[in-house]
Amino acid sequence: MTARTLNRVDALIAAGLAPADARADLDAVAARYAVAVTPAVAALIDPADPHDPIARQFVPSRAELETRPEERADPIGDDVHSPVPGIVHRYPDRALLKAVTICPVYCRFCFRRESVGPAHGGLLPEAELEGAFAYLAAHREIWEVILTGGDPLVLAPRRLEALMRRLAALDHVKVVRLHTRVPAVDPDHVDAALVAALKACGKTVYVALHANHPRELGPAARAACARLVEAGIVMISQSVLLRGVNDDVETLASLMRGFVEARVTPYYLHHPDLAPGTAHFRLSIAEGQALVRALRGRVSGLCQPTYVLDIPGGAGKSPIGPEYLHAGEEGAEIEDWRGRRHAYPPAPAPSGRGRSA
Ligand code: SF4
Repeated sequence: MTARTLNRVDALIAAGLAPADARADLDAVAARYAVAVTPAVAALIDPADPHDPIARQFVPSRAELETRPEERADPIGDDVHSPVPGIVHRYPDRALLKAVTICPVYCRFCFRRESVGPAHGGLLPEAELEGAFAYLAAHREIWEVILTGGDPLVLAPRRLEALMRRLAALDHVKVVRLHTRVPAVDPDHVDAALVAALKACGKTVYVALHANHPRELGPAARAACARLVEAGIVMISQSVLLRGVNDDVETLASLMRGFVEARVTPYYLHHPDLAPGTAHFRLSIAEGQALVRALRGRVSGLCQPTYVLDIPGGAGKSPIGPEYLHAGEEGAEIEDWRGRRHAYPPAPAPSGRGRSA
């Protein structure tokens, strides 16, 4: 296993994970978008497989140099909903707190690729963190704070604990959610100190684990999830539907089963965002719906994520899964998992309501 995180193109080439003849192009990619492959991730890659689904997610490729007109630097519109640095407040009852721009790995399809990485500041400066907490304190409608990124679990336990203790002081905030890849890409980082730091806010804590291929949920990752779950932390999943990574029903089924076996409840399957240089990952919504439909017939109801799209520009997330209800004048038809339709009668007309005797 590689001993250190690989964050330079020459290190990836030396490790046999990137082709030497692509060095100039990959250097151009790395000059624009951050690169990091942890030892745990490097160990999952089969260097002999040119289509390895793990490498495709983390090793830079020439395709990232091609930007299409529909792609945007801020695809989900964080900036228009950011009242102060570090906060995104898009929906009434929840807000994002982006305390760090660093991630343990840099996903080649990342929707925030123009704003994450060491070149974007690392930790939110103390004055801006003060401003972010002042905003959270003043907005008592915020029921849930979502720490996202960057990846909040890259923080040292001491720093994370300090952050969680500050959240503890916000009595209107009942739930703290952290979005992370760490349990899968750096499982040893999820140790007793980190778990204790997460619990320091005394609130209900959710950890949303981002993983896209079943190979990411090996024994070490599952053990990291177990350490979190057994400490009383609730785990949910988020995945991105990606061409060449998980765009077949067998892989998706195995991924969702892996989450459930690790006690991580499947939550969101994201349609890929219009991030720059990521066209090679995107499939059509119709292809995504067909996969989600196939998944419904194939695996347990526990293994069914909600297929969602973040509407470009910042309008928020909407479910975009297949329809099973076909309404008509004479009632409705419901489609079953095999695609057969079944009639369902209309509701009886209301009787007697509002009439005098
Ligand atoms: S971990 Fe999340 S924020 Fe970081 S590079 Fe991957 S998708 Fe982007």
